[in-house]
Amino acid sequence: MQILGRRRFLGDSARLAAGMASAALLGCGSNQPSPTKAASPSATAPIRSAGVTGAPAPGVRFTAPFQSDLHVIVDKQRALPDGYTPPGLQAIPAAWHAEGEAGQQLRGDVIEAMRPMIAAAAADGVSLRVESAYRSYGEQARTFAYWVSVMGEAQARRESAVPGHSEHQLGTTADFSDPSNGWELVESFAVSPSGRWLAANAYRFGFAMSYPPGGEPITGYIYEPWHFRYIGVAAAQEWRASGKTLIEYLEALKARG
Ligand SMILES: [Zn+2]
Repeated sequence: MQILGRRRFLGDSARLAAGMASAALLGCGSNQPSPTKAASPSATAPIRSAGVTGAPAPGVRFTAPFQSDLHVIVDKQRALPDGYTPPGLQAIPAAWHAEGEAGQQLRGDVIEAMRPMIAAAAADGVSLRVESAYRSYGEQARTFAYWVSVMGEAQARRESAVPGHSEHQLGTTADFSDPSNGWELVESFAVSPSGRWLAANAYRFGFAMSYPPGGEPITGYIYEPWHFRYIGVAAAQEWRASGKTLIEYLEALKARG
C-alpha cells in the first residue's frame, strides 16, 4: 500500500470522510511492514538509569495486583464483545494530547496511572504525548470499512484491525508520538526521546509494550514501539521480568487462575 500523509490514527469518521489517509489503520491493528528501516538494536535498550530499579516508581499506587478486566486477551483470534465499552471513560488532560489529536479518552483509572508516568518523564526532560487512545467498536468498524473500500477486504485485513480485535477498545491502551520523527507512528519512534523513555520505564508505571520487536509470529503485529497497554504495576513488573510478549504473559496469567 502506498502510504499517504502522516502515519497516524484517525480519531473520527469525519476525518476519514475527509480522505485523510492515515495509518490509523496501520500499526495497532495492522501487520503491514513498516516503511522505515528497522531501528537499531539499541532502540529498546534502557536509557541512562532514569531511576530504573525494577521497583515501582515513586508515587505509583499499587492497585489490586491482578485485575481481570485489565488482563482481557484481545488479539487477532480473540475479540471483545460487539459494542464493548470500557467502564469510566474520561477525557485525558488537554496537555497530554499530541499535536492535532484533541479529544482522546481513556479509562479514569488508567488516566490516574498515567499521571505519574507523564510527570516522571517530564522530570527526565521527556514530554510524552498521546496520539491515539480509546477507539470504539464503531470507530474501528468505520476505519476498517474505509480500508476495505480503498483496497479490498483481503488487503485491508493485513493492514487494519478488524473491529473488536483492537486493544484500543479496552480504554487502557495508548499510542504515543514524538515530534522528533514528525509525530509519526513508525519504527523510528523507538529511538525518539519518548520511545526510549517508554521502553525503559513504562512498565514501572504499569504499562506494557504489547508488540515488541520480533514478536510478530506470536502477536500478529509488527513492532509497535509507540503502543502501550495498562495492566497494573504488579503485573507489568511480572511481565517485564518474564521476558514474554504481553499476549504470552496474559495467557500464562489466565492459566494460573
Ligand atoms: Zn496502538
